[in-house]
Amino acid sequence: MVVEAGPGTPVLSNEIGFDCEFPDGDYRGATEGRSFGVGGTTARWGGQMLAFQASDAVRDDSSMQRAWEHIVQVGREHGSAVAKVFGVGGLVGQESRPPASEVAPFRASSLDPVLSCGLPFRKRNFAWMVERSSKTADECEVISNAVVANWIGEEVHGDFRIQELIALSPSGKKLRIRAMNYVLAAGTVETTRILCEINAAGSGRVLPDKAELGLGLSDHLSFDIAEFGDSARRLVAKTLAPRFVNSNMRNWRFVQADIGLSECRYFAHIVFPTEDSGYRVAKELLQSMQARRFPEIGFGEFFRGSVSLSKIAWHRLVLKRLYVEYGAMCRLRIDMEQRPRATNSIRLGDRFDRFGRRIPVVSWSVNGQDEADMLCARKEFLQRWSMLGVNYAAHEVHLDFNSLVKSYDAYHPVGTCRIGEDPAAVVGLDLRVRGTQNLFVLSTAVFPSAGSANPTFSLLCFAEMMAFHLGSAAASSV
Ligand SMILES: Cc1cc2nc3c(=O)[nH]c(=O)nc-3n(C[C@H](O)[C@H](O)[C@H](O)COP(=O)(O)OP(=O)(O)OC[C@H]3O[C@@H](n4cnc5c(N)ncnc54)[C@H](O)[C@@H]3O)c2cc1C
Repeated sequence: MVVEAGPGTPVLSNEIGFDCEFPDGDYRGATEGRSFGVGGTTARWGGQMLAFQASDAVRDDSSMQRAWEHIVQVGREHGSAVAKVFGVGGLVGQESRPPASEVAPFRASSLDPVLSCGLPFRKRNFAWMVERSSKTADECEVISNAVVANWIGEEVHGDFRIQELIALSPSGKKLRIRAMNYVLAAGTVETTRILCEINAAGSGRVLPDKAELGLGLSDHLSFDIAEFGDSARRLVAKTLAPRFVNSNMRNWRFVQADIGLSECRYFAHIVFPTEDSGYRVAKELLQSMQARRFPEIGFGEFFRGSVSLSKIAWHRLVLKRLYVEYGAMCRLRIDMEQRPRATNSIRLGDRFDRFGRRIPVVSWSVNGQDEADMLCARKEFLQRWSMLGVNYAAHEVHLDFNSLVKSYDAYHPVGTCRIGEDPAAVVGLDLRVRGTQNLFVLSTAVFPSAGSANPTFSLLCFAEMMAFHLGSAAASSV
């Protein structure tokens, strides 16, 4: 049974009354970076799936190393099952790498190319799984417009056991639900908020004292590092533009082939910014299909975009590539994990929302250490890239740290319900909340930092793992 706060078609947080306070300025991951409704934020995400790499598990702190080894291992064990659910290949192992012949020059420069998989738009909004289950015997019941606002439980043999939850409708109706196990899958901010609520209701004694619930909020910091010169653009568009394999878009990513213990993990990729009207039309059509809304395109705009739309279609269907005009501007961008620190956090504030819940306070900032890490990652990556020679020449671009907008966050919030076996961890390796018997967390909040990949593929691998374990437990108790 899925208890979902939002309506059938997801809306933004401010439309449903899920506010936050931001003492350090807005954190966009908690504003425009999340949706509420069936399908959640997948109604508007980018659909890029990529596994964390073995190098993610190379850490200078033994607790982090253990947590990351486990995360990488879960990806290896359950990645194929996730790929099967989506009907896509190439998410794990050798299949997620470009052909050996294309990789050689990059390897010689200590760059490790991988291919991320862009899900087809019709599969991006995970609401399709709910719709499919209603037609099969999967027996998934979804209750929408039901904000889970209260948790009732008691101490059993020294641990806390949830007995029921109470959900509220927008008109204030109450629904009580009892289950054997409860899984918090409410996104990083709301999952952390709910755990803080449960802990506060139990006078702070539900989680062990040392568990660092809500601390260490971090994200990928996304920034452009270099622009390709005129001479390199044609080759970049020809060799490194996204391609399609069995209707999935594949994007080149470059991760660190060798890594220092204390370096921040990142992935680099190439962006092709364009103002082309055909692109705008195609993007709006596809994104409206994903969000299950009507496209907002005027006839004039559609007409103006039609020539380039036909080129996009030709490249997509015949050449199996994304149409990128040879010679068009292209840039190198890095998405770098932010070092977790206690001052970036999520906690309960003193104000209450319309559901009688304390509004979360989200403190997030980019500090001098982050800026130093960004400069270091740029330098290190461009050194490797320069070894590719003049054909791929790219010129460093200025990093504007004084920009008024915090334009760096990539909507990949992690860290506030960290997984691990150490005293500071919030959930154990099986994702059970420490100090509880039947409460689990399924959220990117369990990842200690953002690592070298977008998080959702790995989250799905954990979902597979959890479905298996909870399913087996339920079967054996019958
Ligand atoms: C623009 C954008 C692009 C992105 N691109 C990518 C990408 O390319 N690749 C990638 O891996 N990741 C990407 N992400 C991140 C990705 O969307 C998230 O990692 C993913 O959606 C997280 O899933 P989730 O289930 O944890 O949270 P969500 O998808 O946010 O779902 C949480 C659900 O919980 C519900 N909920 C919350 N509180 C309650 C409550 N109290 N009671 C009942 N229900 C509640 C919400 O309504 C929501 O439906 C992107 C995000 C954005 C915004």
